[in-house]
Amino acid sequence: MTQKSDSASAPARKGRWRRPDKYLCATCGEEQLFCWSCPCGFMICSHCMEENFWGMTCNGIVWTCPDCGDTRGFGNQ
Ligand SMILES: [Zn+2]
Ligand SMILES: [Zn+2]
Repeated sequence: MTQKSDSASAPARKGRWRRPDKYLCATCGEEQLFCWSCPCGFMICSHCMEENFWGMTCNGIVWTCPDCGDTRGFGNQ
């Protein structure tokens, strides 16, 4: 008799990074419905991203996390 692991009942956890329950913008300090976020925990709302756009990105395709220096793609959250 083999017992199946609980993986059947638990939702598949794909990827190393899950969406946070809430978004707190690191720049304006306000809770937001959506933030661009980095696995290191940095988040920035779209308004602040716009204000700092050319400080965050050099090509408009990816943005660089100021905390860990990782690059994140737009629209690939
Ligand atoms: Zn903000
Ligand atoms: Zn980061």
